[in-house]
Amino acid sequence: MRLVTQRVTLIPGDGIGPEIAAAAVEVLDATGVGFEWLTVDAGAAQLERYGTPLPEHVLESIRDTGIALKGPITTPIAEGFRSANVTLRQKLDLYANLRPARSIVGIESRYSDVDLVIVRENTEDLYAGVEHMVGPDAAESIKIITRYASERIARFAFEYAVANGRRKVTAVHKANIMKLTDGLFLESCRHVAQEYAGRVEFEDRIVDNMCMQLVQKPELYDVLVLPNLYGDIVSDLAAGLVGGLGVAPGANIGINAAVFEPVHGSAPKYAGQDVANPTALILSGALMLRHLGETAAGERVEAAVREVIGAGRTVPRDLGGSAGTRAFGQAVAERIGALVAAG
Ligand code: NAD
Repeated sequence: MRLVTQRVTLIPGDGIGPEIAAAAVEVLDATGVGFEWLTVDAGAAQLERYGTPLPEHVLESIRDTGIALKGPITTPIAEGFRSANVTLRQKLDLYANLRPARSIVGIESRYSDVDLVIVRENTEDLYAGVEHMVGPDAAESIKIITRYASERIARFAFEYAVANGRRKVTAVHKANIMKLTDGLFLESCRHVAQEYAGRVEFEDRIVDNMCMQLVQKPELYDVLVLPNLYGDIVSDLAAGLVGGLGVAPGANIGINAAVFEPVHGSAPKYAGQDVANPTALILSGALMLRHLGETAAGERVEAAVREVIGAGRTVPRDLGGSAGTRAFGQAVAERIGALVAAG
């Protein structure tokens, strides 16, 4: 019998969520790390039952385990309705959103050598949702940037760079126009950068120029740190450089809890058809393993995904192949089994 070494809250989610979650669990179990999966439901069905897609017992479970692997949750487009994903990040103070974007051999994209890590501030900026009407014909949204949150995310980016042997952090902003808000973000990054001088390089870019540079020469960049809204946009741009949403993993990390989830949504049109690509959630699981200190297992998961896609026989449909969700998960799990056996 396998020893349980790690309790993890599992939130399968909506749409394609349950299928990709099953594939990811099979893959992660194959690493030999003894997981106990505590499955809790969040999403559309809970909205009907509890009046919220994110019932309190889901938050309680994550507070208890400190770690969750999460599928996508559908956000109903309705006025006065807050996204469950944004609520989860705020309630658990998951202040850092980490989104690596790395080229995978076998996936057609414009570049073959992209290796970027996007670190997005997750708690403030225009996402604070402080909006109101000014009379009937004008609306106002307030952008909130604090020194506390900016220094905290900058420190996270530098610490990540040190821990993962990355050479450079680039702060991305629009401080030439938003001199107070983005100015404070940039000033905070510069301040934190001094603590890492000689260990990690630091530079900054204006966000519009950054987008052009990433499209033209992504290989020049390494770790990027951004306020919430620019981080949202630039991380999708980075995902597009390496093959799109089906392969883009993510993590939301706080002091007491961390939630690992793909960048993509619930893709309702593919639900229940065994056609979705589980790679993004599987790679989110690899980020989780690294976060738990199971670095070798995390590397094996990443290697197995690369090898299975690179071999070209079992490739998910959105990447040009014909493999179903289950078949792809099984192939990756088998490859991990072989890597574990080889030591
Ligand atoms: P989406 O990411 O679900 O889909 C965008 C496109 O990519 C679609 O064509 C979809 O079919 C495809 N796609 C996405 N993931 C795929 C996968 N794993 N395999 C194959 N194809 C995949 O975005 P959307 O359509 O804008 O959103 C659908 C729902 O998901 C919305 O309710 C939205 O609010 C929600 N959403 C949730 C999260 C989250 O839970 N973190 C993130 C984004 C969107």
